[in-house]
Amino acid sequence: MTHSELLPRPPSPLVEAADDRFGRYGVRLLLKRDDLVHPELPGNKWRKLAPNLRAALEGGHDQLVTFGGAYSNHLRATAAAGRLLGLRTVGIVRGDELAGRPLNESLARCAADGMRLHFVSRSEYRRKAEPHRLARLVDAAGAAGAYVVPEGGSNALALGGCAELGRELRGAADVVAVACGTGGTLAGLAAGLGTGQRALGVPVLAGGFLAAEIRSLQAAAFGGPAGDWALAEDFHHGGYARVPAELEAFAADFGSRHGLPVERIYVAKLLWALTELTASGAFAPGTTLAAVVTGRP
Ligand SMILES: *Cc1c(COP(=O)(O)O)cnc(C)c1O
Repeated sequence: MTHSELLPRPPSPLVEAADDRFGRYGVRLLLKRDDLVHPELPGNKWRKLAPNLRAALEGGHDQLVTFGGAYSNHLRATAAAGRLLGLRTVGIVRGDELAGRPLNESLARCAADGMRLHFVSRSEYRRKAEPHRLARLVDAAGAAGAYVVPEGGSNALALGGCAELGRELRGAADVVAVACGTGGTLAGLAAGLGTGQRALGVPVLAGGFLAAEIRSLQAAAFGGPAGDWALAEDFHHGGYARVPAELEAFAADFGSRHGLPVERIYVAKLLWALTELTASGAFAPGTTLAAVVTGRP
């Protein structure tokens, strides 16, 4: 029997955002409120985790292990999922210097949800890409036999969950835009859209490595390229979790205009990018944009 938390959920709301910064260029902006898809596991974290949680339960696992940095929304979502489903969770956290310090708000929430935190050095953390190192790391964290969810939660099952997000948007917009960390959400979303629709990703990390990552995620999940997608790489604002004052002001203003709690690390950068791209004429008049609100503050 499927755990009630893991039953399919109704499509998240798609709402019009009347905003002259788009309207004056003949562009319509819609908000795909994926932050409302689940009360405790917002947005893409629900989309990506749900198929993995089903697999963990079907495989008879009683423990999940995953990876993340000190501010990882993915760690927080995994911890909450573990609490909801009665699964033990272990979080392997990047940065052994954090071990002796008070937990930040994000890690404190993980701990409050029962996640056991295991801190490792940055170099050890990086080496988890090698399978035998990964196994040793999991053992050392006391999580042997646990169901392993990769960093950011982006595996083939997760991409399948995100393809459902694309299917919900079929026929509703010309361009569907989403902020990217690992790129897993974009990779799955693009695969689920209909013909003639395209996906646009806004990376929040600097570096320019993401397109190759997305191609390899799609190859693993779908056997090859899927859907029409592109990246807008110039809107990371200096890198992960950097929120310069002008971005902060933009996000606060957007939030009060549209009654939307704007998550700063990802969603603010997405909305900023769409505003800038629209002003620069990147979208022809008559274009309907859907911005995926992947999470909440
Ligand atoms: C994790 C996260 C993302 C990034 O998703 P990826 O699939 O890793 O690209 C985007 N938005 C929010 C709010 C997130 O928490």
